[in-house]
Amino acid sequence: NIMLVDENNVYEEIRPFVNTIKEQHVNIINNAQLRQEFTANVSHELKTPLTAISGYAELIGNGMTGKEDTIRFSNEIHSNANRLLSLINDIIKLSELDEADHQMEMERIDLYKLAENCVQMMQVTAEKQGIRLTLQGESTMAMANKGLMDEVFYNLCSNAIRYNKPGGSVTVTVGTKDERPFLSVADTGIGIPKECQERVFERFYRVDKSRSKSTGGTGLGLAIVKHIVAQHNAALHLDSELDEGTTIEIVF
Ligand code: ADP
Repeated sequence: NIMLVDENNVYEEIRPFVNTIKEQHVNIINNAQLRQEFTANVSHELKTPLTAISGYAELIGNGMTGKEDTIRFSNEIHSNANRLLSLINDIIKLSELDEADHQMEMERIDLYKLAENCVQMMQVTAEKQGIRLTLQGESTMAMANKGLMDEVFYNLCSNAIRYNKPGGSVTVTVGTKDERPFLSVADTGIGIPKECQERVFERFYRVDKSRSKSTGGTGLGLAIVKHIVAQHNAALHLDSELDEGTTIEIVF
């Protein structure tokens, strides 16, 4: 049949399919590039603490270190091993989220209750750093995955505490806006420079690498949050002023 139709018409008819194939091709190339970058970053991030662990263990193993140095090196091994563990946990979480057929169990949950649990759990950490952590709002039901939403609350609160200033505060709010359930975590911390605000959701992107590492950050927390929010078809808003604070809001 195609042979009988004018060549230009045939092209017009198949043009939408050609365009779709072209778009898919570009997506595949972009995804492959992202995956390659991620693999390179993962290798680098895993090798750093492992190299430190190996080095300190070798020093202790030589039997030449005094008591003080032995304690110092053991502490280094301990903190690098913890770092490695957090990284591996976050990488596993991301790869589970990445699985195309990742089936989320959705149920009607009270976001306020989840927030309450998280605030309770993080209270000691916040107090230790002189940060006032409070919850406001009311019982708010939403269709969501409980485990993943726990993760969101934990990651956002943990950042709001870690990137805060002494005497600062963190306010978690849960409620309804234009009939949509929402949650937000606002801090009075160091803020994020305008030019970095889009990039903080990328895997392994940090504004200040040394601060992130010294406070136990893996550089994957916000990437995980972004992924979970997308899977819930919710919207993610970031509002931040350098030196004044940051608010992250999720609207269902
Ligand atoms: P990390 O494990 O490094 O905290 P995240 O993905 O959670 O990784 O965050 C990425 C980067 O965004 C952080 O390294 C930090 O520079 C910045 N950031 C995240 N949350 C905040 C916040 N509440 N205030 C200031 N900066 C933040």
